[in-house]
Amino acid sequence: MKNSLLKKEKLVTAVVANPKGEIFELEGYAAVGMSGSSFLPLTTHLTVNMPYGGELMRLPDRSPVVYNISRNRFETLKENPHRPGEPIFPVAAFNSPGYVLSFVSAYKENKGADYLPLFSYGAVGWQKDRFRSAAILVDRENRQDLRLMKIKNVMAGVHQMRKKMPNNRLRAHLEKCALQYGCPAGKNFFLGRYEAPLPTSRYCNAHCLGCISLQKNDKIKNSQDRIAFTPTPREISEVALEHILKVKKSIVSFGQGCEGDPLLAAEVIEPAITVIRSATPHGTINMNTNGSKPDVLEQLFDAGLDSIRVSLNSVRKACYDTYFRPKGYDFSDVQKSIRIAIGRKKFVSINYLNCPGVTDAPEEFEALIAFIKQYPIHMIQWRNLNFDPLRYYNIMDRASKHRKPLGMKKILNKIKKIFPNLKYGYFNPPKENFYKI
Ligand code: SF4
Repeated sequence: MKNSLLKKEKLVTAVVANPKGEIFELEGYAAVGMSGSSFLPLTTHLTVNMPYGGELMRLPDRSPVVYNISRNRFETLKENPHRPGEPIFPVAAFNSPGYVLSFVSAYKENKGADYLPLFSYGAVGWQKDRFRSAAILVDRENRQDLRLMKIKNVMAGVHQMRKKMPNNRLRAHLEKCALQYGCPAGKNFFLGRYEAPLPTSRYCNAHCLGCISLQKNDKIKNSQDRIAFTPTPREISEVALEHILKVKKSIVSFGQGCEGDPLLAAEVIEPAITVIRSATPHGTINMNTNGSKPDVLEQLFDAGLDSIRVSLNSVRKACYDTYFRPKGYDFSDVQKSIRIAIGRKKFVSINYLNCPGVTDAPEEFEALIAFIKQYPIHMIQWRNLNFDPLRYYNIMDRASKHRKPLGMKKILNKIKKIFPNLKYGYFNPPKENFYKI
């Protein structure tokens, strides 16, 4: 790193944690962002004020990589240089929805380290009395802004829905999502705003390394329980119609964090969509899916499904297979689903699971450009991958070699330049906004 480069911009101070979990800044050291095997000192220009709703995490069994300003070099610190003998740990930011990570927190693993829990670990520093996050704003909408989700209003909605649909098990399940897991999508159903979730499927034909609803790896804990029953078409349509008939520009979505893949529950979803569409043409019926079953998807489009969001960690088969571990389907089925959806003039997003170092590697960037040329999708939802970032990078690098990353900001700008009509964001849009850029 050239000194002249660093002088031009203001370095952001490193933040670390002590064994009690107290977080503090480290004078004389700049925060560092990690992207694959590359490190970069964080500056004002590379960061934003940490957005409201984000959380800071101490990373156990790991040592922070920081930038020693006076010595002009990266250092891995095991203990506090200002209080010798006191162990220190890296700190990362879990940023609020709408922000995509440009760098992850820089650290090295200590011997015997376990997997990090299923979150994203953004780089963070301190400047002018504020935390600064290495993140890029991709969606300004306040759909999941916790300030607008007052618990007393959620409870009022819960009581109202209990009265309206006392025997509906899906309504009861969403109560648990909203109140126990604090799921913003679940809360929005009870608040009557934006997008309501319709979790339905108990099963999945993928085994994603970072699946948040089911883990067979006992070293990784799933963060929520998968739905334990299959709602009936009547239960699904009752919840969906309640939302659609009440909310302007409403969206109802199959395929949530607390279920498997909805394509494996088409036997109840198809009749539910038929009931919804026979009652109203309003509202957007969306499905978040792995896109593994093109024939099933066709049937759902026939019934009235409006849009899909297909999850992809990579558009390169080797990396896709390594992360999704598909069983009984192939990456070509996912491509076929996208092709069919585009051919049928349905709105298609990809849920592009971002991890700096892999997503912005030249190999992935070039493959993504080729992919969008071949499959002219309408939107990229830039989502942060919730998985141990260093282990993910190493796993992906074994699946397919990655050269030095180009930088997240750079690839976002370049892709937009090549495809100006491609929508960027974080949330599923309602059909009224499908083609608004
Ligand atoms: S596709 Fe979704 S539900 Fe299926 S394993 Fe992956 S994350 Fe889990």
